[in-house]
Amino acid sequence: MRIMLRKATLAPIATALLLLPFAAHAQKPAAHPAPAHISGAAVYALTLQYLAAAPQRWLGSPGHQKAEDFIKDHFKAEAAKGNLEIDSFSASTPAGLLPMRNYIVRYPGKKDGVIVIASHYETNYPLRDINFVGANDGACTTALLIALGQHFREHPPEGYSVWLVFDDGEEAIKEWSNTDSLYGTKHLAAKWSQSGTLGKIKAFMVADMIGDKNLNIDRDENSTPWLLDMLAQAAKNTGHVSYVFKNSTEVEDDHLPFKQRGVPVLDIIDLDYGPPTEQHPEGGYHHTALDTIDKISPKSLQIAGDLFLEMIRLINQR
Ligand code: ZN
Repeated sequence: MRIMLRKATLAPIATALLLLPFAAHAQKPAAHPAPAHISGAAVYALTLQYLAAAPQRWLGSPGHQKAEDFIKDHFKAEAAKGNLEIDSFSASTPAGLLPMRNYIVRYPGKKDGVIVIASHYETNYPLRDINFVGANDGACTTALLIALGQHFREHPPEGYSVWLVFDDGEEAIKEWSNTDSLYGTKHLAAKWSQSGTLGKIKAFMVADMIGDKNLNIDRDENSTPWLLDMLAQAAKNTGHVSYVFKNSTEVEDDHLPFKQRGVPVLDIIDLDYGPPTEQHPEGGYHHTALDTIDKISPKSLQIAGDLFLEMIRLINQR
């Protein structure tokens, strides 16, 4: 992920005004919301397990293979039904041709159309020589997707199908640029363009860096406006308004290859991770050895899980 533009922090009143036009037309929360929730504590526990199994997951490392095994092990039920796809490809990178793999898990729904939730699962390649584990940057959102899968295994989607995408090669290999980044999602967007799959996608949502104890989900201006409005509504419905849209940003992330092909996209991301430093003005823990499990919390993962489930409900009502 790279920040393109960071706007001044919005005053609370401005945030309230921004939300107002949508809120005026807002639907009331459903009288009978879905009874099942994602447990933040369970996502946190899964994050710990993932970090223990594969602390360093850069492309080509033994840990990357262990990360893939961890993901596969959690979707044996889906694999048995033919609903786990391994999307293998090679990407040309500054380090040469590198094999990569996206994992796609499908939960068929009852309506024609698909909601996709994606997270990258590898760790940053340039940081392979430091003790970088990416607890917030890749690990906790991989765990969140696994928990979402467990939820949909027990509660199959009543509306649109839900697909989980564990994408590879999100990070730059050398230095972030249009060509050196987002390898997995670029490959998948091109593949789904050729197969006609893109036209079925109602929303492509990315989960990134949302385990931060001090959770502030950004208003990413690279996301589709109606999905941003819907996220504000989802926050309202779930009682999490104070955790969203304090900051407005433009982020380059896994949603861009799909946005560029006309798919509605939403990046649910919190960029201000740790106290700002000169090297990391966005937050001192980002892309450092300080991105560890103690910086994330079950509560933030609970909020993230609530927001994704509510987004799925709202997209189905649209
Ligand atoms: Zn990163």
